[in-house]
Amino acid sequence: MNWTRYEDQKPAEGRHWFRVDPKYYADGWGGHLVEFVDVMRQRGAGLQTVLSPGFDKWDGYSVHIPTGIEWHPVTEEEILSYTNEALLDNKFFRVPGLDLKPCPFCGGQPSIEWSGRYITAPIWSRKHISIECCIPKIRFWEGDFNKLVDRWNSRKESPDEQR
Ligand SMILES: [Zn+2]
Repeated sequence: MNWTRYEDQKPAEGRHWFRVDPKYYADGWGGHLVEFVDVMRQRGAGLQTVLSPGFDKWDGYSVHIPTGIEWHPVTEEEILSYTNEALLDNKFFRVPGLDLKPCPFCGGQPSIEWSGRYITAPIWSRKHISIECCIPKIRFWEGDFNKLVDRWNSRKESPDEQR
């Protein structure tokens, strides 16, 4: 998968995968690089209209985009799976390299979830991150990915194993 630096080439209008160097996140990402889908759209910027990503910031004078943004196209399959609900639930999001044990209840692969402080919040304005599968939910406010993974991966010995 080839990532293009936003500074080198802006993506076209529409949805794309983006990622930001973790050093630009406010806190707590444990060095993990987070990838997410967002949209390039025309937006008003003072007297003009500019093409800019959904996570930009308008300060009343100009549009700001974090340094170190990279992007690559979404696949046909991903486009087909988009629903407004899934997008608002921030489903198109991944954290490569997290070493998660399977779910202790169903043996399946758990998923990482997050929610923003407001509807279109970028991932660095998240309210919480959590690991979810079946019923359990491990949720951290202002959480750190490494602490989250440690919590999920820790196992109490079952009575059978202690015999
Ligand atoms: Zn499960």
